[in-house]
Amino acid sequence: YADAAMYRAKDNGRDNFQFYTEDMTQVAFEHVAMQASLRQAILNNEFEVYYQPQINALENKIIGMEALVRWKHPSLGIVTPDKFIPIAEETGMIVDLDRLVMKSAMKQWSIWYSQGLNPGVLSINLAVKQVQKADFIDFLQNCILHTQCRAEWLTLELTESDIMKNLEAMKQVLVQVKSLGIGIAIDDFGTGYSSLAYLKRLPVSKLKIDRSFIKDLPEDDEDSTIARIIIMMAKNLGIDVLAEGVETSEQRDFLLESGCAHIQGFFYSRPMPNEETLKYIQQWNQD
Ligand code: C2E
Ligand code: MG
Ligand code: MG
Ligand code: MG
Repeated sequence: YADAAMYRAKDNGRDNFQFYTEDMTQVAFEHVAMQASLRQAILNNEFEVYYQPQINALENKIIGMEALVRWKHPSLGIVTPDKFIPIAEETGMIVDLDRLVMKSAMKQWSIWYSQGLNPGVLSINLAVKQVQKADFIDFLQNCILHTQCRAEWLTLELTESDIMKNLEAMKQVLVQVKSLGIGIAIDDFGTGYSSLAYLKRLPVSKLKIDRSFIKDLPEDDEDSTIARIIIMMAKNLGIDVLAEGVETSEQRDFLLESGCAHIQGFFYSRPMPNEETLKYIQQWNQD
């Protein structure tokens, strides 16, 4: 346990460096306490879904929103995913957590559409354990039925490394997802072991260029080249491409000039809770 907790602390980066100064027993204790508290949070549904807009910068339109979960901890306040998603993944609690997010976000989409609003595509992050669950497709279909969210409003995001580690199993599920009319996006693209060969074999509808390649645009020559190559590759394969983590107008302009008009990042908006998201959508729908 102590070892696992140490690695976790490392994974989580800067924010958790205090773990290093604790003694090992304390670390193990905190890890176990965190698991217990997360389990309780899932039972009580202490989660709230935030939404971050995805914009077509050429047409100035909302193309969709990414659902990003937040934990409303009774004493800690809003906790971001980097603090609890890794623990949810290693314990398998992510399956229930992802399902809470799916239900809540899909319900919201069906409400907004029924009110005549157009929030675009709802993009939902899923863990590999979720997608590989035997009843995943059943759950997805049931959720669509009960929330009245249409399949064509949906895109599922899977990270490139999750897909690569489980290629054959993933391919089988993704084919079924696609046949329901749901889009599939490869998240954090460029950080895994990208190869044209596998992209061609998967029913992928969108690549999301990882934030690490966007951060130093347009100054960094290597990142500029990588971003351009990913955009070109997507175009040639007939796949949509979106840049994540766009924070400045210079980055947006570089991407537009390079042929990537689909943009997500703090430049347009941070992830927002429900009410704020509604106002954001209303504003853009008016223009
Ligand atoms: P992701 O799917 O790659 O989501 C993008 C992350 O980048 C989000 O962090 C978002 O807030 C952040 N971000 C967006 N634009 C910018 C920007 O311009 N600058 C910077 N510095 N950051 C930006 P967040 O919300 O903390 O989520 C982190 C990760 O947690 C997500 O990465 C995703 O992998 C995971 N995650 C979030 N919600 C869920 C969920 O419901 N289920 C699962 N399985 N994973 C989730
Ligand atoms: Mg994502
Ligand atoms: Mg990402
Ligand atoms: Mg990520």
